[in-house]
Amino acid sequence: MLEIPCPWCGPRDESEFAYGGEAHLNRPDPETASDREWAAYLYYRDNKAGVHAERWHHTHGCRRWFNAVRDTVTYRFHSVYTMDDEQPAEIDQ
Ligand SMILES: [Zn+2]
Repeated sequence: MLEIPCPWCGPRDESEFAYGGEAHLNRPDPETASDREWAAYLYYRDNKAGVHAERWHHTHGCRRWFNAVRDTVTYRFHSVYTMDDEQPAEIDQ
């Protein structure tokens, strides 16, 4: 079973968490965004193989959201950080 390191609780079993999707998405301004920009924000994700940033929720623990850098090929977690922290440099975007 996969072990996920919560920034507040430490390593816990995967069954305590809920996946929250890709991290660091920039919401377009609703007053000026085109239909194409809204569609991209709502429906399109990178889905790349390799290291990327994603959101997780410790649903059955501290109930806090956090970001993680994880390799989607190996499932290995490289780092976890709070929503207030800067995106780590190890992600190439
Ligand atoms: Zn936690």
